[in-house]
Amino acid sequence: MGNSGAKETTSGSSTPQYDVVIIGAGVVGNAIARELSRYALRIAVVEKELDVGMGTSARNSGVLHSGIHYKPGSLRAKLNVEGNSLMEGLCRELKVKIQYIGKLTVAAEDEEMPTLHALKEQGEANGVPGLEILDPEDMEKLQPGVRGLKALFSPTTGIICPYTFTIALAESALLNGVDYFLGEEVREVKRNGQKFTVRTRKGLGLVSKVLVNAAGVLSDKVCRMLGINDYTIYPCRGEYLVLDKRLGHHLSTLVYPAPHKGKAGLGIHLTKTVDGNILVGPSNEYVDGPEDWATTSYIMGKLREEGEKLLPSLTTSDIIRSFSGIRAKQAPPEEGGFRDFVIESRTDVPGFVNLVGIESPGLTSSPAIARMVRDMVSALVPLREKPEFKPELDRMTGYFHELSAEEQADLVAKDRDYGEIVCRCEQITRKEVLEAIENPLGVKSVTALKFRARVMMGRCQGGFCLPKIVRILQEDFGYRPEDFFLYREGSHLFTGRVRS
Ligand SMILES: Cc1cc2nc3c(=O)[nH]c(=O)nc-3n(C[C@H](O)[C@H](O)[C@H](O)COP(=O)(O)OP(=O)(O)OC[C@H]3O[C@@H](n4cnc5c(N)ncnc54)[C@H](O)[C@@H]3O)c2cc1C
Repeated sequence: MGNSGAKETTSGSSTPQYDVVIIGAGVVGNAIARELSRYALRIAVVEKELDVGMGTSARNSGVLHSGIHYKPGSLRAKLNVEGNSLMEGLCRELKVKIQYIGKLTVAAEDEEMPTLHALKEQGEANGVPGLEILDPEDMEKLQPGVRGLKALFSPTTGIICPYTFTIALAESALLNGVDYFLGEEVREVKRNGQKFTVRTRKGLGLVSKVLVNAAGVLSDKVCRMLGINDYTIYPCRGEYLVLDKRLGHHLSTLVYPAPHKGKAGLGIHLTKTVDGNILVGPSNEYVDGPEDWATTSYIMGKLREEGEKLLPSLTTSDIIRSFSGIRAKQAPPEEGGFRDFVIESRTDVPGFVNLVGIESPGLTSSPAIARMVRDMVSALVPLREKPEFKPELDRMTGYFHELSAEEQADLVAKDRDYGEIVCRCEQITRKEVLEAIENPLGVKSVTALKFRARVMMGRCQGGFCLPKIVRILQEDFGYRPEDFFLYREGSHLFTGRVRS
């Protein structure tokens, strides 16, 4: 499907030379690419999927954590607090919606009170601002209907759309000169003399002075390509239910249970999204496959029960979708809990910057991780700032339907394609679909459109708009139906015509 601003495979031609090659276009790889694109470097990102942000970075809660949960002195604590503080400015530049709606961590029983106090102390030691323990009266003011003895309020907890953010980082990196190779799975990495040669399944070859491993749940596999056997990732799945926007107004802040030691996640909770849905989840279960993104009827049933407890007005018809994401855990099931991020410039493999076990709060930490990696790269190749670096993306923040009536009328007067609704549930216009199709990284799957234009994300999940989108792709852009993929190569939507 489609043409792409990303680079096409160049097997057969001479091997392209780079200063830095990054394996993996999740939020971490793209944040690093965007940070390094400030400097006069030749940079490439190699991603096995057809689009950026198709792994864990699109499959999480989208919460900007404050930093109360992690041990003082750990990388997770430091990078979480730093990343959280960088997010507001970065989202302004990238035109990405962000809301600091705060979080209540609730103690339901007396035995949980010491946990709240310990979290507050830990958060303060980590430099988290504004932490307060609230009594039920003040909790009620922040979140009507919330039950519990007391709650720790963290005002710097926020929400963001994780795939919009990841795509925006990639578009900004591309705009600033980074080459993207999508649909290219790295199969072999060799170090010859002072350089790395990276080879993909399809035969693309790249040579680079610095190699960055940002392969998420598969980062241990990339390590093994270089003979590094120090790490094992134990995939741990979190499943979610997505609730209809009808219920969105019920949540004004985030409400989490007090955490329990040894658990792999932060407990099942309700999370409001920046687009108005509520997520119920995530569960946590160790699984065999690092990309086993299944949702199961057993967990969905449990999430529904938990959801009904937390939100009594929830009915089955409010559940519009389920999805799951995989945590890149270094802690095996028998150990549970969390281990710290590994971010290292290897001395045994000079030039190899290695990121392993970037589980939560990897989304929140990504801008700070990128700065840390930049400092490691600066010790390997000289960094010279580019005066032409453009921090801002030139686009609208949010969607047409979120604008005022006057702003909408102005846009429709300028371009009639704003006047036609394609996705009825999410009120997405034809113009927004066209812009998503024409995005600078290109479109090779329907999911790429979903993540850019929010089409197919409402109650009907594409029942109404998918045929319209397919028609636009065919008639306006010349796509062939048999080339439409759902999200990755081989996931065909159509196999042929039933009538001419
Ligand atoms: C259930 C769940 C909830 C979470 N909630 C939050 C939250 O609320 N807040 C928060 O801050 N964090 C959260 N996280 C953590 C956050 O999502 C991750 O830390 C972050 O997305 C990791 O990004 P990444 O770029 O390292 O990994 P990924 O997004 O997985 O990116 C890695 C990329 O590498 C590519 N790749 C792998 N191998 C190869 C190869 N050989 N060749 C080419 N490409 C390759 C993959 O296709 C993938 O696109 C959550 C995670 C989960 C699972």
